[in-house]
Amino acid sequence: MTLPALDVPSLPLNDGSAIPQLGFGVYRIDPDATADAVSRALATGYRHVDTARAYRNEAGVGRAVRELGEWVYVTTKYFEPGEDHGHRDAVAAFEESFANLGLDRIDLYLVHWPTAAGEGYVASWQALTGLRAAETERGRVRSVGVSNFVPEHLARVVDATGVTPAVNQVELHPYFQQQELRRVHAERGIVTEAWGPLGQGAVLEDPTLREIAAAHGRSVAQVVIRWHLQLGTVVIPKSENPARIVENAAVTDFALSDDEMAAIEGLDRGERVGPDPATFVMPVGGYRRDA
Ligand code: NAD
Repeated sequence: MTLPALDVPSLPLNDGSAIPQLGFGVYRIDPDATADAVSRALATGYRHVDTARAYRNEAGVGRAVRELGEWVYVTTKYFEPGEDHGHRDAVAAFEESFANLGLDRIDLYLVHWPTAAGEGYVASWQALTGLRAAETERGRVRSVGVSNFVPEHLARVVDATGVTPAVNQVELHPYFQQQELRRVHAERGIVTEAWGPLGQGAVLEDPTLREIAAAHGRSVAQVVIRWHLQLGTVVIPKSENPARIVENAAVTDFALSDDEMAAIEGLDRGERVGPDPATFVMPVGGYRRDA
């Protein structure tokens, strides 16, 4: 049985479109298992899926969305390692992702990492903004944005193009709350999207979060996802476990108090679970499943 779309708000983007605040992430889901996992999520009411060319599972996402036969907000990401970061490759990569997905449009197309390899990300951003402009009539890409950009990267790309990314998708969870970056986003009109929203599992045993969860008769994962919704970030938890896919979507029928929000704010340790954008370089060929 397919449930109707979850009752979550959509956040307005600076290009006039909007993004559903809760989505389903598919990083590290095996390409052969992706269509099933996404179909489960869609049956539960998710209408937003986050993939990337580097995850090698765009085809499974596309298959599940086509089978549903309803509009689903789909994000994918561009990344070519090292010197290939740039205009020619970005356009070719878009065509490849578009074909992999087999949908009539990509709602959000992101520069996946700025990388430490020079300033190629500026050329990539120029390419994505050009692509979006060229697609005004055909409409194959609705919004463009970035991922893992720090304030200096944002300043560089806006200065170079005059176009502000619609979204910056970054690591963000109770142990790494990105207060300064969120302030910059608010100033620039960029929506903050949280990857690793559960700290890839690292926050799930936290005593404060467990206490709050117990008070609501909820799981820690639900409390953390609810915290993201109330903070105003887009949140894209990943799970392949059918019960958890349902659990992570059941976050619209309770609310955290101001005191609980403040207690979670107090958990920030400035501690990443993922790579630092200042030094990270994507392995050639994209992520490995065991990376
Ligand atoms: P996450 O914080 O969503 O954590 C996923 C982990 O938590 C999984 O191991 C899962 O087993 C566990 N989990 C999920 N729900 C649970 C529950 N209810 N109870 C207990 N455990 C639970 O981490 P993530 O997958 O890295 O991030 C989410 C999505 O963000 C990814 O799938 C991907 O789409 C995106 N992402 C983007 C980037 C980027 O560079 N832009 C990087 C990493 C992830």
